[in-house]
Amino acid sequence: MGAIDVKYAELGGAGGWLGAPTTPETTAPDGVGAFRHFANGSIYWSPATGAHEVHGLIRSKWSSLGWERSFLGYPLTDELATPDGRGRYNHFQGGSIYWTSETGAYEVHGAIRGKWAELGWERSFLGYPLTDELVTPDGRGRYNHFQGGSIYWTPQTGAYEVHGAIRGKWAELGWERSFLGYPLTDELVTPDGRGRYNHFQGGSIYWTPETGAHEVHGAIRGKWADLGWERSFLGYPLTDELVTPDGRGRYNHFQGGSIYWTPQTGAHVIYGAIREKWASMGWERSRLGYPTTDELPSRAGIGRFNNFEHGSIYWSPATGANPCFEAVRLHVKILTTPTIAINQMLDSMEQVYSTAGIRVDLISTETLNLPALNDIDVGTCVMGVSTAEQIQLFANRNSVGANEVVVYFVRSTVPPFNGCAAHPAGRPGAVVAQGASQWTLGHEVGHVLGLRHVDDNNRLMTGNGTGNITNPPPDFVGTEVSTMTGSVLTRAL
Ligand SMILES: [Zn+2]
Repeated sequence: MGAIDVKYAELGGAGGWLGAPTTPETTAPDGVGAFRHFANGSIYWSPATGAHEVHGLIRSKWSSLGWERSFLGYPLTDELATPDGRGRYNHFQGGSIYWTSETGAYEVHGAIRGKWAELGWERSFLGYPLTDELVTPDGRGRYNHFQGGSIYWTPQTGAYEVHGAIRGKWAELGWERSFLGYPLTDELVTPDGRGRYNHFQGGSIYWTPETGAHEVHGAIRGKWADLGWERSFLGYPLTDELVTPDGRGRYNHFQGGSIYWTPQTGAHVIYGAIREKWASMGWERSRLGYPTTDELPSRAGIGRFNNFEHGSIYWSPATGANPCFEAVRLHVKILTTPTIAINQMLDSMEQVYSTAGIRVDLISTETLNLPALNDIDVGTCVMGVSTAEQIQLFANRNSVGANEVVVYFVRSTVPPFNGCAAHPAGRPGAVVAQGASQWTLGHEVGHVLGLRHVDDNNRLMTGNGTGNITNPPPDFVGTEVSTMTGSVLTRAL
């Protein structure tokens, strides 16, 4: 008795569910094996696989694919019940066919079947296949849809599953034909445990229950990655990458801020009070335009700022966020290093000047070896009057452009002041003495920009000595602001 007859007998023979034979045992068209058809199914045999029955819709699917001559080859099993009891399957040499009454019969094979098996077959979240393996519309890949998601494969990327809201977002964007291309990972849990993501060839989709699923890609994704992904202060994306209303740029909003990008400015992060200020002004459509830096700390850490195409927003706890549309360009030339660090003085100046909308740009720093001018004779220190030593010192304008201000840090003035803003015509600048206060630099530059003394220790321009300022940071008043912004020594950004 041949193997087909043995299997038939095992299954009950003519009295079994296969019923009576409808053909004799026949050599299969591939010339390797043999088969016999029965009223309710078939038994196929090959030397490599033995004899197994196929019937019902699984047999119909196999038949539609080309029987043993298809990629499936010969059956490796009879039709078996799935472990969950809801379906049936046959394994074949080249894959499997799975059937349930709700889904119908579909084949899975190759790397996609491997991924499905790895995830736990039909007992995984994917459940049963809803399609055979199909060619993607772009012709480069393959996929099966399942009840709970999909597995996509290309030779370059391998096979990965996508499901749920992330799959929904990917579908919305155009599947593999979108800029995202094919998945490079399964859906993975984020390191913080709160979210899920798939990476794709052209970006990523991140999801949490609170934020939903959103894509990030390109330079914005690169910036987010640099900052530490969802573990950064930005948290998870709240939007896909969107086109800005002016059409020039792109952005994603995140839980903790935004990243804005244009081809000209690159991708920069903006958040907190600076972002709020920018938003209140009209975002990129405001006079500021797009950010050209991330939020950065000021030199001595008093404040923080973003620079923009046409200005800056400076923030400190004491001042809040102020936009700056003008800048004063400073050059520092050091004869003696002051007791209070120059960066601290620059920071203090910047904090006050930001309230006037003026940014403090340090253009250059140079050390001067001029011992004869280190205790400089400033005479009566009256604007418009220069001593011989002031004329000598202020001649040092190496690398200084027109309408740029030089601050010379000297050991002392004679007579002794914290500083003196008197300077020769056409050489705007001031001296600051070693023992100056943190406000002296800003005060002296204030004089250079046209401000006079006031008798008010709440104000930077107090004539009673900046060491006596009572409410740091000191104030400017409106007329002082217009004098400074009207000076040729401040320029629009
Ligand atoms: Zn003064």
